[in-house]
Amino acid sequence: MAGQINAFEMAQKQFDGVAKQLKLDPGVAEILRWPVREFSFRIPVRMEDGSLKVFQGFRVQHNDARGPNKGGIRFHAAETMDTVRALATWMTWKCAVADIPLGGGKGGIIVDPSTLTLNEKESLCRGWVRAMWKNIGPRNDVPAPDVGTTPQMMGWMMDEYSRLVGQYTPGVFTGKPIGGGGSLGRTEATGFGVMYTVREAMNHLKMNPTDCSVSIQGFGNVAQYAAIAFVEQLGGSVACVSCYDRHSKKAYTYGKKGGIDPRFLLSIVDQYGTIDKQKAQDSGYDVEDADAWLAKDVDVLLPAALEGQITADTVKQLSNRVKIVSEGANGPTTPEADEVFKKNNIFVIPDFLCNAGGVTTSYFEQVQNDMNFYWSKEEVLERLDQKMTSAFNAVVDRSEKEKVYMRDAAYMVAIDRVVTAMELRGWLTGDA
Ligand code: GLU
Repeated sequence: MAGQINAFEMAQKQFDGVAKQLKLDPGVAEILRWPVREFSFRIPVRMEDGSLKVFQGFRVQHNDARGPNKGGIRFHAAETMDTVRALATWMTWKCAVADIPLGGGKGGIIVDPSTLTLNEKESLCRGWVRAMWKNIGPRNDVPAPDVGTTPQMMGWMMDEYSRLVGQYTPGVFTGKPIGGGGSLGRTEATGFGVMYTVREAMNHLKMNPTDCSVSIQGFGNVAQYAAIAFVEQLGGSVACVSCYDRHSKKAYTYGKKGGIDPRFLLSIVDQYGTIDKQKAQDSGYDVEDADAWLAKDVDVLLPAALEGQITADTVKQLSNRVKIVSEGANGPTTPEADEVFKKNNIFVIPDFLCNAGGVTTSYFEQVQNDMNFYWSKEEVLERLDQKMTSAFNAVVDRSEKEKVYMRDAAYMVAIDRVVTAMELRGWLTGDA
């Protein structure tokens, strides 16, 4: 989505590199480098001013060998089929590396949700489901929130699906609101999960989190809870957050000497991730340019916004102190920037490992929906921590054993698991 970068080409390039190292059968690689199924559809919505507007919707199902396709729906003005393809592909690897029995999917609508009224948002959500309901379902494809979508939207979508099939079906969407079929801990899950992997990485590298600081790009759901976890659970400090301001249509970096207060910033951010600049300045925050977050003298960089942010060009701004890059966003680093990380010995916690906490808790939500029995928040977060820690360990072990870069090791673990599932189902021998 960012600039010239095509996220799907990036996803294929990453995959091709590892497929070669694994000496993967070319036919098997051909199955995995493209999604199995793609949907592109138009959604008419009667706007509140009386006009009829038509929106472009997408859903891509990449691979369901390990279980139903799973992945969010994004509402973004610059959404494209290729972005959705990339994100669906990364979901397959994410669910496999987290070792949850789900495949990969992603959806989207080309729209800036902040331009819609509440009623228009609801109509658009219901319209997306009317276009897709025959091809989604708890045993088929299970969407969730992503950039620009919220628990309330998942609630409407689940309701529309339940009406169409004539049966209350909470497990068709995850990330639903609490009291409306959602799971406790789902809101915090992605950000907390990011920090469980950072904690493990610091342990591995013998770094003490209380001496460390992190610089964050983004202040949406992932960044918000990652910042809270880093300060409150690990005792570190957050130097700054950089985020998009929808009023001035550009991003700013908000920093404070001694570290930002994530709970304060959470109290002045709107539902679209825009921080109230005036209130931040009044409370002593420094406001710098969008890219300032990249150049901070910190131990950890946490991109938690969109894909294609750390490129051959922007990577030059990194301080020498950076030891860890934890990818909260999907696809934030281009293959060219990866080469620079490798050369400089930067420890990368790759996106589909680092941010797998969201989908892992979505899986827990589905399990609870199926059982119709709900767990406490402590139980959810404890199970999440176990899953994230063992996923991290599987990837580090592979990286050490094969002497490969962390992203490649994560791909190796994930590809092996998906290929095994395809083999066990007989997809690679008989009629695929
Ligand atoms: N959109 C999130 C992701 O990219 C969550 C997906 C889900 O919960 O299905 O991982």
